[in-house]
Amino acid sequence: MHGFAYKNGTLHCEDTDLQALAQEHGTPLYVYSSGTLLDHYKRLDQALDGVDHEVAYAVKANSNLSVLRLLAEEGAGFDIVSAGELFRVIKAGGDPKKCTFAGVGKTREEIEYALKHEIYSFNVESEAELRYLNEVAADLGVIAPAAVRVNPNVDAKTHKYISTGKSENKFGVDFEAISDLYARAASELKNIHLRGLQMHIGSQLTSIDPFIEAVDKVAPLASQLKADHGIEFWSIGGGIGIVYEDSLQAGSEAWWSSKSDEERPLTLAQYGEAVVPRLKDLGLKILLEPGRAIAGNAGVLLTKCLYEKKGSAKTFKIVDAGMGDLIRPALYEGHHDIVPIKEPAGEVRKVDVVGPICESGDFFCQDRELPDFQPGDFIALMSAGAYGFVMASNYNSRPFPAEILVDGGTATVVRKRQTLDDLIAGES
Ligand SMILES: *Cc1c(COP(=O)(O)O)cnc(C)c1O
Repeated sequence: MHGFAYKNGTLHCEDTDLQALAQEHGTPLYVYSSGTLLDHYKRLDQALDGVDHEVAYAVKANSNLSVLRLLAEEGAGFDIVSAGELFRVIKAGGDPKKCTFAGVGKTREEIEYALKHEIYSFNVESEAELRYLNEVAADLGVIAPAAVRVNPNVDAKTHKYISTGKSENKFGVDFEAISDLYARAASELKNIHLRGLQMHIGSQLTSIDPFIEAVDKVAPLASQLKADHGIEFWSIGGGIGIVYEDSLQAGSEAWWSSKSDEERPLTLAQYGEAVVPRLKDLGLKILLEPGRAIAGNAGVLLTKCLYEKKGSAKTFKIVDAGMGDLIRPALYEGHHDIVPIKEPAGEVRKVDVVGPICESGDFFCQDRELPDFQPGDFIALMSAGAYGFVMASNYNSRPFPAEILVDGGTATVVRKRQTLDDLIAGES
């Protein structure tokens, strides 16, 4: 469910007309719905009712300060992967004591920064990193709270670039090696407080099965570590998938209820129903690290059609956004539904929608049947709220797009469009 729908012939975000917004602010333009962000956060929070829990939003999905502020005001925790993300959380009014720090390559500077801000836990990905964390903490004369990321070796059945829970991925420590590692750490690493256990098996999971498999496999280990080392939390990661195809339709309750149980994509409530019974007797605080499930369907990227080019084999619609603005299609074959901002009359044509960047991978769709639109018309790339702007680059020296946060009929620029001077700032 989300706040994007046609009203009076044009696409709206909540009560804001996206045609007017694109005209006023130019394109490419990211637009986020604050109502949708909050709704997803609250649904996840509710889905975990019945266990002591905390939702730690995965900042990397969408780290705009205003997005973080919105979630911080709701009491969210944050899962960060760099000092930069912690800096953002602090600037947005988030509580460092509710932050967990993930990632395989933390530097000394990052560890020191996070220790100074007394984050909740370092989620450590290797023995070498745990030993280094101990060393840095000792140098500072503090105790570092830590959890090790267990790699449960389950197949998340998602795209290979966003699968993280198999033994061949770079993430985490092998399931079989965890108990010994905790035992060694407890006896040797005096500046480590073994606070929890963490896992995260991948992203954009649309079936509940891999989550269940991972929880069932790791729950006995979590219990054992609680008994042996007094750990207090288990983070079961993020990865809950969203609807990318039929994204516009999936904004409405009616679409969800029209689906049979077999057809219906994983809902946040279903996720909760499956995992809560498996977690509630562990006596551990459960952390969830959702990124995409909160932000993905809460944002769109608006772009303008510049030209139409009819080749011998194909028709290309050339738009003013490119892979520098939204790289998911080029990076991992990500799908984004494309809808004209003016409600279409019905006629469809098979086209490629491509960006201006000098790369053949710079396309948003190939050979897709789309409602017709013309040069000068605006279109929306749906489900672009997560892993969209955050992955933007200046490749081809194209300035970053602007970002807008909508609340009802109010649209606020939450990041200005970069200027040409911004592009060369810091260069000589
Ligand atoms: C990226 C990431 C997440 C969030 O993944 P989503 O698919 O966006 O929910 C959570 N935890 C860790 C450790 C991650 O790296």
